[in-house]
Amino acid sequence: MKKTIEITLLPEQCATDELTKFYTAKQIGSVDVSGVKVLRKSLDARKKPIKYVLQVEVYFDETPEKDSINFNFKDVRNAPHAVIVGAGPAGLFAALKLIEQGIKPIIIERGKDVKERRRDLAKITRENIVNPESNYCFGEGGAGTYSDGKLYTRSTKRGDVNRILKLLVMHGADEKILYEAHPHIGTNKLPGIIINIRETILQFGGEIHFNSKLTDIIIQNNKVKSVEINSNFQLATSNIILATGHSARDIFELLHKKNILIEAKPFALGIRIEHPQKLIDSIQYKCETRGDYLPPASYAVVNQSLGRGVFSFCMCPGGIIAPAATALGEVVVNGWSPSKRNNEFANSGIVVSIEEKDFKPYEKFGALAAMKFQASVEQKAFEVTQSLSAPSQRVMDFINKKTSTTLPKCSYLPGINSVSLDEVLPNFVAASLRDALKVFGNKMKGYLTNEAVMVATESRTSSPVRIPRNKETLQHPQIIGLYPCGEGAGYAGGIVSAAIDGENCAERITTD
Ligand SMILES: Cc1cc2nc3c(=O)[nH]c(=O)nc-3n(C[C@H](O)[C@H](O)[C@H](O)COP(=O)(O)OP(=O)(O)OC[C@H]3O[C@@H](n4cnc5c(N)ncnc54)[C@H](O)[C@@H]3O)c2cc1C
Repeated sequence: MKKTIEITLLPEQCATDELTKFYTAKQIGSVDVSGVKVLRKSLDARKKPIKYVLQVEVYFDETPEKDSINFNFKDVRNAPHAVIVGAGPAGLFAALKLIEQGIKPIIIERGKDVKERRRDLAKITRENIVNPESNYCFGEGGAGTYSDGKLYTRSTKRGDVNRILKLLVMHGADEKILYEAHPHIGTNKLPGIIINIRETILQFGGEIHFNSKLTDIIIQNNKVKSVEINSNFQLATSNIILATGHSARDIFELLHKKNILIEAKPFALGIRIEHPQKLIDSIQYKCETRGDYLPPASYAVVNQSLGRGVFSFCMCPGGIIAPAATALGEVVVNGWSPSKRNNEFANSGIVVSIEEKDFKPYEKFGALAAMKFQASVEQKAFEVTQSLSAPSQRVMDFINKKTSTTLPKCSYLPGINSVSLDEVLPNFVAASLRDALKVFGNKMKGYLTNEAVMVATESRTSSPVRIPRNKETLQHPQIIGLYPCGEGAGYAGGIVSAAIDGENCAERITTD
């Protein structure tokens, strides 16, 4: 017999499976509990004592059932194929779905495999050299491989989130992601999972080609005919899942040049702010020191400031500020954290919504206007320091419009330089940020401190371009067989939503 109940436990009472079982049994006053399976676990830090709220299945005289993970992968070695451009979450999950449908995925990826890619990431931090084909955004696993690996999403209506999580577990992620309210994998664990996904794709007969950049799409009578790779080789195909991510500016340029319809799209831009993790812990948990069983604290803030949305983005407790530029001559930051979230800093993007009127000065670039605006801010950040070292300012100095005379220690490895951020950010972005930060400081006492540093620019929050597609067929309205997919096309905003979109595109593909 089993029954589902909701209980609240102190963090130390549910730190392990055994403890969870013991304290659940104690709370329901039963000595017959044979097992407990957690279905949902979320932290409630609103009042003391801080507790976990758990939904659990309690078993009496039986052992808990393991979550079944069954996927119907077929041998597609000799099956008809579809080409997937980009091996990010969208591309990889599209490939797995195609294999289930009996279609052979041929993935072409401009970057290198996970292992080789790691060397290029080291070069960014050690030598300030960005390889435009292999960096934090490009290469096997896409921006997802060296991302933070937070898996929460608002895309529940677009697809089966649980299926994506189960596929991740099947490829090596911890089962906890299936029930935690804020599942997180961590940058140290993601590369191994991506390698395992690659192995599944190859095992069932799919193909993955690294160092293979899409340089043209050959179209005849409004139908996809082939893809051109590295400007020297054509691969015939009637179906392309175009999952090249939000940083593939050359792809947007290519589509624009070929008069394939794309649209400029609002996005968000700002800075990444970094505090000592201990400070965020004390603010969020209202304590001097975080208890041993509590996770490093996170936060989410949002405000309407001077008519614009300002919000935290990709908050990384115990994390590191990552250099996410994809070309020489630009500074772009993002954030990641290891699975244990045990670094000494907490960082978060704080970004301001960018609307159509803001990229009007770039309207001569047509559908590329928002992208050109985005690039101009990133390039400005490079110009002021003439390196990957990021323009930075202490928070109170930014609020008081004073250039920082010193900067605190920061996790951004290429280094930081004291610059007034008003020199880098568009005026309206700086003004909204200043206004919103004051509001955030009122909500979180201690948040506004000169111990915190703001690092520019956080600009790759979402794609500045949308590649339109038919709502039903998911194909481009002008081109049969072209499936714009994932974050770059404007249909996802994170790992899980990109994976879901990859699956959705794959499901629409039929082959003759
Ligand atoms: C540091 C960092 C931290 C992040 N943290 C999180 C997080 O915690 N949670 C979360 O949900 N999201 C996070 N993200 C965002 C997440 O990684 C992306 O939303 C997701 O990877 C988008 O998936 P995608 O497949 O659409 O595109 P991408 O992952 O961008 O993949 C696109 C792929 O296409 C390839 N490509 C581009 N152009 C070409 C071409 N011409 N030919 C062939 N291949 C090409 C690229 O090399 C890349 O591999 C983070 C991103 C970064 C950079």
